[in-house]
Amino acid sequence: QPRPPRPQALATIDHDALAHNVGVIRECAGDTPVMAVVKADGYGHGAAEVARTMLAEGVRELGVCTLSEALGLRAAGITAPILSWLHAHDADFAPAIAAGVELAVSTRRHLAAVVDGARRAGAPAVLTIKVDTGLNRNGVNVDDWPGLLEAATAAQRAGDVRLRGIFTHFARADEPDHPVIDIQAARLKEMVDQACAAGLEPEVVHAANSAATLTRPDLRFDMVRPGIALYGLSPMPEVSDFGLRPVMRLSGRFVNVKTVREGEGVSYGHTWTAPHDTTVGVLPLGYADGIPRTLSGRFDVAVGGERRPAVGRVCMDQFVVDLGLGSGVEVGDEAVIFGDPRRGEPHAQEWADALGTIHYEVVTGVKGRVQRRYV
Ligand code: PLP
Repeated sequence: QPRPPRPQALATIDHDALAHNVGVIRECAGDTPVMAVVKADGYGHGAAEVARTMLAEGVRELGVCTLSEALGLRAAGITAPILSWLHAHDADFAPAIAAGVELAVSTRRHLAAVVDGARRAGAPAVLTIKVDTGLNRNGVNVDDWPGLLEAATAAQRAGDVRLRGIFTHFARADEPDHPVIDIQAARLKEMVDQACAAGLEPEVVHAANSAATLTRPDLRFDMVRPGIALYGLSPMPEVSDFGLRPVMRLSGRFVNVKTVREGEGVSYGHTWTAPHDTTVGVLPLGYADGIPRTLSGRFDVAVGGERRPAVGRVCMDQFVVDLGLGSGVEVGDEAVIFGDPRRGEPHAQEWADALGTIHYEVVTGVKGRVQRRYV
């Protein structure tokens, strides 16, 4: 009987940390229900797995981007309300309507496709309108709003849809004092009033992502809609960690440990040369697994609780760590690539800083041969 290989590259997802973060958000939200955003496979953490824990910890609803993400959660046995909000104009909505997925529309074409889907599914669609109050991305803007309202009213009268919600998304929620947040909130209220005047009466209005949930209790409306904070990463890392605990820990096991002599170059292009005799270890993760090549020579890993620098170029499948002489590190030992700084591990934010990006991109970028383990 062949032994299953021990995973050499691992994303460990910590349910306790996730439960803790749900607690932080729920405390902030007070009585306001929480919709957890689990798009992009739960920000790279595994949507169904994290959704189960979040729901068990009191999250009421789930938010995703695509229909296939919503249907994937249903296929995994998740029966909680799911809202899906980014669609092709000619998407086939019938399977999602049959699966009880709430659908957000931004255009009349979306609405027409939803109506068509509802007729084919033989059930009214639960509808939310995504309104653009200033992000100028997806969502219906002020100009197209009267036309969409009229069409939604007609579709509701015909029994093809039931308008449940109206929501918007903030452009600058991570700058809680920025006036544009209040401008967006005021536009949202105005648009909701107009929907009510048209007889649509949405039950739930929502806007707050993680940053707004954590910093603007006045903007909770009927539901908050955080993502990143639930995964333990602060939406405003320069301000506070809000007591959140990183949920993902990326690690690898050394597949080779050996001596490199002073003056020898390491990895492609010999961009790093050993300044003295040293020991290096090889970790089996590379840019195909989500370790950006542009990070070459600019990050540390934690080995036995101590920081060691990654040296030379990150390759497709592997990178090299300078362990120093006499480190005692052996093949099979673990290195943490990012995780919880409270355990002496590098934080995803360090990568984000080095790369000029945000930690959202770091955790959603883990891919390839990295296996997930839930603890
Ligand atoms: N709502 C929408 C529409 C989103 O696209 C996102 C994520 O980008 C969120 C909520 C959650 O945002 P955050 O992860 O910053 O909390």
